[in-house]
Amino acid sequence: MIHRLPDLPYPKNALEPYISEETLEYHHGKHHAGYVNKLNALIKGTEYEGMSLEQIIRQSDGAIFNNAAQTFNHNLYWLSLSPEPTHPSKALHQAIDETFGSMDRFLQAFTDAAVGIFGSGWCWLAVDQEEKLRIRATSNAHTPLEHHETPLLTCDVWEHAYYIDYRNERAGYVETFWKLANWENASKIFADKEYLQNSGAL
Ligand code: MN
Repeated sequence: MIHRLPDLPYPKNALEPYISEETLEYHHGKHHAGYVNKLNALIKGTEYEGMSLEQIIRQSDGAIFNNAAQTFNHNLYWLSLSPEPTHPSKALHQAIDETFGSMDRFLQAFTDAAVGIFGSGWCWLAVDQEEKLRIRATSNAHTPLEHHETPLLTCDVWEHAYYIDYRNERAGYVETFWKLANWENASKIFADKEYLQNSGAL
């Protein structure tokens, strides 16, 4: 199948002043598009051509894995941001309280994990195979999908996500992430894992 670059779910300037139009122009239009195009070129004529994005991520390695995983990671990243304020569902809020002690503790733990990733990577809120919430920090293209976990929310901490707006200040960018985090989307996946597919992320 041909993998497609999803449209951004909001206008390119909708996340200003926190994330600029210029950042989205490059991040979506160049970086994300580049991963999708590269993936399509790499799988042509291979066993991966007939697979879903999820199957490719689980079964490939090397360049095909990297481009497939980065395609998915960005698909979810755009859905993890919202220009409008959103709130977690009661069920998700309760699970966060039970797992991390409180919402504030969760935010701090996630922020620390995101800021602490050495080099390029992603920070995630995911549901593990025992149905427990987990904060996952992954390097480069790696994603909780590889471990059969269900990601709810992700923050891209590759420099291309923040360098135009925050230069080297990753911590400032991650702090801003909480102003934009799309809890509504995370709650929908938490309520029904199929929503990851239905939302177009996979
Ligand atoms: Mn990125």
